[in-house]
Amino acid sequence: MTTDATASAPETRKFEAEVAQVLHLVTHSLYSHKEIFLRELISNASDACDKLRFEAIANPGLMAGEAELRIEVSADKAARTITIRDTGIGMSRDEVVANIGSIASSGTRRFLEALGSEQKADARLIGQFGVGFYSAFVVAERVTVLTRRAGDPAQAGVRWESDGRGEYTLEPATLDARGTTVILHLKESEDEFLDDWKLRGLVRKYSDHVAFPIRMPKAAADTQDEAAADAPEWESANDASALWTRPKGEIKDEEYQGFYSSLGHDFNPPAAWTHNRVEGSQSFTTLLYLPAQPPFDVLMGGRDERKGLKLYIKRVFIMDAAEELLPNYLRFVRGVVDADDLPLNVSREILQHNRQLERIKGACVKRVLDLIEKLSRDEPEKFAAFLKAFGNTLKEGIVEDAGNRERIARLLRFASTRGEGAAQTVSLDDYVGRMSAGQDAIWYITADGHAAAAGSPQLEAFRARGIEVLLMSDRIDEWMVGHLHEYAGKPLRHVAKGELPLDEAEKKRQEEAASAAAPLLERLKTLLEGKVEDVRVSARLTDSPACLALAEHEMAPHLAHLLREAGQAVPESRPILEVNPQHALLHRLAATTDDAQAADLATLLLEQARLTAGAPLADPAAFVQRINRLLAG
Ligand code: ADP
Ligand code: MG
Repeated sequence: MTTDATASAPETRKFEAEVAQVLHLVTHSLYSHKEIFLRELISNASDACDKLRFEAIANPGLMAGEAELRIEVSADKAARTITIRDTGIGMSRDEVVANIGSIASSGTRRFLEALGSEQKADARLIGQFGVGFYSAFVVAERVTVLTRRAGDPAQAGVRWESDGRGEYTLEPATLDARGTTVILHLKESEDEFLDDWKLRGLVRKYSDHVAFPIRMPKAAADTQDEAAADAPEWESANDASALWTRPKGEIKDEEYQGFYSSLGHDFNPPAAWTHNRVEGSQSFTTLLYLPAQPPFDVLMGGRDERKGLKLYIKRVFIMDAAEELLPNYLRFVRGVVDADDLPLNVSREILQHNRQLERIKGACVKRVLDLIEKLSRDEPEKFAAFLKAFGNTLKEGIVEDAGNRERIARLLRFASTRGEGAAQTVSLDDYVGRMSAGQDAIWYITADGHAAAAGSPQLEAFRARGIEVLLMSDRIDEWMVGHLHEYAGKPLRHVAKGELPLDEAEKKRQEEAASAAAPLLERLKTLLEGKVEDVRVSARLTDSPACLALAEHEMAPHLAHLLREAGQAVPESRPILEVNPQHALLHRLAATTDDAQAADLATLLLEQARLTAGAPLADPAAFVQRINRLLAG
């Protein structure tokens, strides 16, 4: 491998502005996780081998000259360099410019966007994105890349070099072998990485999961040969078997965890994993992980670009296929699917309509739901943390995956009037298990926040009768529960909707109360003309004067408000006002002969009912004046 002496002088170019920005951030914030450079460079080398293996399926000539795909890592103490070489796909000159002179990886771009104008990045964040190649500059004052694309002639090689400070040089090079060599000229302070044991340890740490052999020169002490440094004897630093292809019983937990961290995006150990081999008319292997921590938002947000689940076909990496292999509500899952029977030349378009893939997808969903279920049974603490991180994502499945609705519902946990405060610990099974004999529905309330749910006047009658109510206060709940009509054969009902089920005695009392209050109701209807659909005596209230009742398919007021705020057209509907004739305010209204005061009282009843339902007041100033008039009067 020599640089062609006759070649033209090096050309100096400036990095794209964003690269300079990333370089700055990375070198300044990865300081406590310096060693990551090795993970990133090995992973690029491994990607390059994957790409070549894939391209060589259609074009076997690309492997000419060197049949083995491998990675070599070595250190030179005298020169103070670390070299990472691969026999992968390599890069043409244009590719070098595009891939390492500008921000090629969209992950890095999103990372930048996520940081916005704040120039602060923490290492955890950077680790999640994998800033890749540029992490070399955390330890190197100068980086040299020699690369030649597979299939190109020796003279088509490229030499790239930079000190990571805004500019790089490019020049042609004659390279005997295809692939890429990255040479790190270490900073003064980074000598520790030249230490044989240190480097070996790191390579092992970051390479065990790599499916290509990674070789390092045999330690000097082991070799008798003086010239060992010039012609090193290489030995394997990893076993290069794709972890998922090994029998389950032989794989240690640490190996599973190590493989998880090699998938990227997460410094933390996974919460759980499931590894399965399906044999039969269609054979495939799945290794799927549940993360313990939520990833940084942008990674979850980009629906069009979900990463984390890799599709292999007979051990050849094909593509990130999270969208093809898992429904959206399971987008937190990471791992590998290796299919034996798909054609190697599949495209994304083909995958989207592939029947075999549909079956694999079904199996993945089943495995993941099994895994979450197992976690809920065996490791309640981990399960609680998992739900905290991904419970709301999982709830999307109630809407998205009708076929698994009941299974997903069983995994959800809610706050309840019998639970511990705001903690979401009650399952639907818990609820159904303690329903009283006569109770025929699962009752819930949705509100904007736990306090609003727990304090809602609509719960009063339920409390009085000892009926448990699920308190739902996540924004997605209203939408989710609208698709969950029943569980275990019991209908789910919103406490504010429709009629309460009353026994004969209660019905009788209710009718009597209504007829006794008839003149009061008439008065209220007149006073609130045009503002309410109806005024009724409530069976829901014991302590509060008024509340709103919703029609069966009416949206909860807090949600209607949210949607309007978000600019959506939500039809205005006039509410049904329910009142408690036993309440002192209603007594006062019935007794007053002052029409102005009666109007104030009636309006106030409606306003407070709206407030407790999470709907805003149309005119807060008028509301305050009304209150003051009544207090002063
Ligand atoms: P990412 O790996 O996430 O794409 P990197 O910064 O690690 O981002 O690398 C940027 C790009 O540079 C890669 O996508 C790839 O195209 C190219 N590249 C880096 N290292 C190699 C290599 N060893 N062989 C071939 N291409 C490489
Ligand atoms: Mg990379």
